[in-house]
Amino acid sequence: MTEAVPEQLDPRPNKPAAGPRFVQVALKLPLRREFTYVLPPGLTAQPGNRVRVNFHGRKLGGVVTAVSDTTDLPIAKVKPIEDVLDSDLSLPPSLLELARRMADSYGCSMGEALDATLPSIAKRRGQRRIPHVELLAPRDLAVLAVDELEEKHQAQSRVLRAVLEFGGPMTISDVKRRTKTSDSPWKTLCKNGILKRVMIAEELEELKPAIEERAERHVLNKHQEKAVDAVTKLVEANEHRTFLLHGVTGSGKTEVYLRILEKVQAMKKSAIVLVPEISLTPQTVGRFASRFPDVAVLHSGLTDSERARQWQRLLQGKATVAVGARSALFAPVRNLGLIVIDEEHETSFKQDSTPRYHARQMAIERGQIENAVVVLGSATPTLETIGKARRGIFELLTLPERAGAGRLPKILVQDLRTEPKEAQREGVVLSRTLLVMMEERLKARDQVLLFLNRRGYSPVLLCPSCGESVQCEQCSVSMTWHSRRGRLVCHWCCSEKRRPEMCTTCENERMFELGVGTERLEEVVREHFPEAIVARMDADTMAERGAHERVLGSFRKKHIDVLIGTQMIAKGLDFPDVTLVGVVSADTGLFVPDYRAAERTFQLLHQVAGRAGRGDKAGTVIIQTYCPDNYAVEAAAKNDYDSFVQQELAFRKITGYPPFSRLLRVLAEGRQESDAQEILRQACEPLNTMKNVEVLGPAPAVITKVKDNWRWHMLVKCFDQAAFDRAMGAIGTVEDLGTRTCRVTLDVDPSSLM
Ligand code: ADP
Ligand code: ZN
Repeated sequence: MTEAVPEQLDPRPNKPAAGPRFVQVALKLPLRREFTYVLPPGLTAQPGNRVRVNFHGRKLGGVVTAVSDTTDLPIAKVKPIEDVLDSDLSLPPSLLELARRMADSYGCSMGEALDATLPSIAKRRGQRRIPHVELLAPRDLAVLAVDELEEKHQAQSRVLRAVLEFGGPMTISDVKRRTKTSDSPWKTLCKNGILKRVMIAEELEELKPAIEERAERHVLNKHQEKAVDAVTKLVEANEHRTFLLHGVTGSGKTEVYLRILEKVQAMKKSAIVLVPEISLTPQTVGRFASRFPDVAVLHSGLTDSERARQWQRLLQGKATVAVGARSALFAPVRNLGLIVIDEEHETSFKQDSTPRYHARQMAIERGQIENAVVVLGSATPTLETIGKARRGIFELLTLPERAGAGRLPKILVQDLRTEPKEAQREGVVLSRTLLVMMEERLKARDQVLLFLNRRGYSPVLLCPSCGESVQCEQCSVSMTWHSRRGRLVCHWCCSEKRRPEMCTTCENERMFELGVGTERLEEVVREHFPEAIVARMDADTMAERGAHERVLGSFRKKHIDVLIGTQMIAKGLDFPDVTLVGVVSADTGLFVPDYRAAERTFQLLHQVAGRAGRGDKAGTVIIQTYCPDNYAVEAAAKNDYDSFVQQELAFRKITGYPPFSRLLRVLAEGRQESDAQEILRQACEPLNTMKNVEVLGPAPAVITKVKDNWRWHMLVKCFDQAAFDRAMGAIGTVEDLGTRTCRVTLDVDPSSLM
């Protein structure tokens, strides 16, 4: 079929050409190729411009990657661009190059890489109205409906509960994300008069810096000074280099960043500071804003129009410091001098959906492209990073001691095997030592943090007579008992069910709760300390709008005595009156089938311990464990990063895991187990004979089934760069293997192996 070419597109060579007429466009599709379009008269475009095109009858947004005067394609086939959007917000060439590198190193398409680079800002300007749902039925009726729907319409029940818990109009995208549901449940609820769909103009959700947060300008100690000088010198020389700033918690790393930023600004250069999403709090922002009032804060809660405004300020050079989570790496700052990644070991710097890039890796790439310096900061650098520092690829800077008044806390390891037998049988929640310490500290009106990285009441509901536990019907995992809600919940697919009256296998009526979650911990603490004011911070209690700030605010004002939480409370909190930190179980992460289990445990223990003794008073940390001899626990207790690294490196060397290799993970998921298996069998064939490449699997994934999809995976260890390139060449397009019944995902440097 030939399509008629509109007259004005007729490219007769004797017509004077007004600039380049053909553009290459990358579309946000999992397709590796780009597409050629023609510019209609009156429109001009440059690489980096966003455009709208017609693609097989669909209107899609895309980004221009190249322009040219000619094309090899038959002219009649080339469709015109529909529109060029917001040319004042187009992507600078360096970011286009960065996206190209991202596509190459993570095996995604250019369009997908660009989509991450240029968030959805330029689509609409001005105020935008977004669809929300809110309660239409009276509240008590809705509460009843949650229960009624549970039996036959589980997804609707979940949606309704989420809206009730949120306590106000909730965006539909949030509803779907939180409950892992499609459009149909909320639509049905609207149809039945329980919810109502409303359009609400988006609010400007600026993250206001905490006003009380003034970053005092301290006299730097000699370690800090050395670090500032080393980094500044290279920024001044326009030279790319990566530094590792290794400093114990409270050693004044942030102060070092602030000082370097001052110098960078004095040189009329710009900087980007990345912090983990969880640390992007008014407190953090306040520390930067008090020294740099023009700071641009970029976070995931920003509305499109606010993000667009921040982008423009950066593009125009009105803001020269950008602070944000992972994606702030792509902030279009002018004359980039420095990128800081604080807490470089945090897993949230790796994106867990396509494109699966790691912000650390991409920061270094951007530093290379723009001749900027990269500073990675951490108290517990990853093995990859410390490995590179030791080999001289990164330059190591060390802050060996706490900077201000705070001293490192005293850490006690409490061996739970020595608790009384009766207590053991019930499962020890708080050891005798921890109880005594808590009592003492609460009497002194100090505050206590209790950390447990597991939400719910108990992770398993077990039948003591036949040993069966309640499993999710769609996933191969135990369901967690949530007693407050009175439901068993699958933490993988969010489905829920009522507690069975008896064991479905042997009809025993006394199922019991095995293991401890934060909910049970809270109950136990209240039993022991009825006078104390106890609060809990985990994904369940933080579902309500503004809950985070409210609880932390109360804690700061000392309206809360004991704060219980998951990893939400492990990082960054700086409260001077916390003198006791209890790690209820150091063992929760130790037995996870992941080569980083020990590393993650060490990092977490070290971070949690760092919350104690930040003020003038001395702090104590109690780590409860059944494995006191484990090297990760032992090293964390001694604050001995070096000895941990030494042992861990020896283990990695024997097993050939990173930093002694680079990993690729290929995951296949499908309704039929045999499909998933077969796709991987094909994909691994060319790898099996490759030099310096080792394939583990294909094998069933640890969680063998999620939402009725069977999961198989393989791990590919690449022992040098050439091997990595070869392996990527062979499976870089593995997603193309995916069929309608089976989804294939490639993950480079995967952060999860489950
Ligand atoms: P980190 O980021 O390494 O955890 P911070 O930068 O938050 O450490 O510093 C910890 C505390 O020490 C802060 O209260 C900070 O104000 C203080 N501090 C930093 N540098 C100095 C210094 N040179 N002298 C005195 N106090 C300092
Ligand atoms: Zn499930």
